[in-house]
Amino acid sequence: MTDFSAFTAPGINDLSPYVPGKPIDELERELGLSGTIKLASNENPLGPSPLGMEAAGRAISGINLYPDDSGFRLKARLAHKYGLEPQQLLLGAGSSDVIDMVARTFLAPGSNAVFSRYSFAMYPIYTTAAGAKCRVAASHPPDHESMPYGHDLEAMAALVDEATRVVFIANPNNPTGTWLRADELQQFLRDLPGEVIVVLDEAYTEYVMEADFPDGADWLAMFPNLVVTRTFSKIYGLAGLRIGYGMASAALIDLIGRVRHPFNVNMPALAAAEAALDDEEFLQHSRKTNAAGLVQLAAVFAAMGLDWIPSIGNFITVNLRRNGAQIYQQLLERGVIVRPVANYDLPEHIRVTVGTEAENQRFLEALQEVLVA
Ligand SMILES: *Cc1c(COP(=O)(O)O)cnc(C)c1O
Repeated sequence: MTDFSAFTAPGINDLSPYVPGKPIDELERELGLSGTIKLASNENPLGPSPLGMEAAGRAISGINLYPDDSGFRLKARLAHKYGLEPQQLLLGAGSSDVIDMVARTFLAPGSNAVFSRYSFAMYPIYTTAAGAKCRVAASHPPDHESMPYGHDLEAMAALVDEATRVVFIANPNNPTGTWLRADELQQFLRDLPGEVIVVLDEAYTEYVMEADFPDGADWLAMFPNLVVTRTFSKIYGLAGLRIGYGMASAALIDLIGRVRHPFNVNMPALAAAEAALDDEEFLQHSRKTNAAGLVQLAAVFAAMGLDWIPSIGNFITVNLRRNGAQIYQQLLERGVIVRPVANYDLPEHIRVTVGTEAENQRFLEALQEVLVA
């Protein structure tokens, strides 16, 4: 038998595939349960944007044709929204597609990417798949006064060397929910060699209400090496359609766009995204529900004597001081899907997405049951 692993491209044998949140169907099939809830993938518990959903429905009748490969209308809408040129936009099948395109454009054997220890699980996967090395910076320590487990920009800068082509920064960060202020992030960008690409991953930015939180889109004119990524998967509630985008200088977008698969964004997704951008009512309602849910979860964690990482995203990562994988299993048996984060190097934590008030309540009751057992 041929051992094909001897013939793979650089990096492939070092990869472990991404482990997604467990789908509801799968749990119900496996355990014969019904009425289970999923708080595992930071999806919007209020459902899809109603305007987005209607638009996707209308677009379905046209799917015998290929979608508009240029994404003309959505790019025009986004360009208008952010005061950019359409050539500064790149659409992806989710923002992870855009992040992968950046990796494939700039990373290769011999180069490296820098990112923080507790950050998005796709950064090491895309880096390794491109044959490049991961340089993982220490994060702030668990007892840090304001951002425990958060990005330590000094530690990240210290890892940048002549072989560094890309730095990945998630703001707010997943799985910690921590964030970087405008002043510190801008200073980091100023100090970085101009040829190093910075991917500023803003998947959760629409949830944020903090005043000194940066908007990467405002900095594109200042930093030609900056790529800002956003998604319709989180607050817009369109995760199942797979659509996100990147914003950067036109020169960078031209390069990155060369590795894009043709028709990478499907027709219902394009239509839904365009409509969802205007769904202010839904966005406001989502932000409010999330803010209330964060308070609801934190209050009960406090009452239970649990430490959690202060989050401004739509999820909280809580320290159970027990085997997180086991607690995860026991929650599954009670019909509640959360996210174990051992793969993020946090074996005693779990990450829970902020749900509706009733979902949060159900999760908290199940957690209390499991922890006293
Ligand atoms: C969810 C998430 C994304 C985006 O996912 P897509 O569905 O591919 O848009 C990107 N970065 C982070 C940090 C995320 O948590």
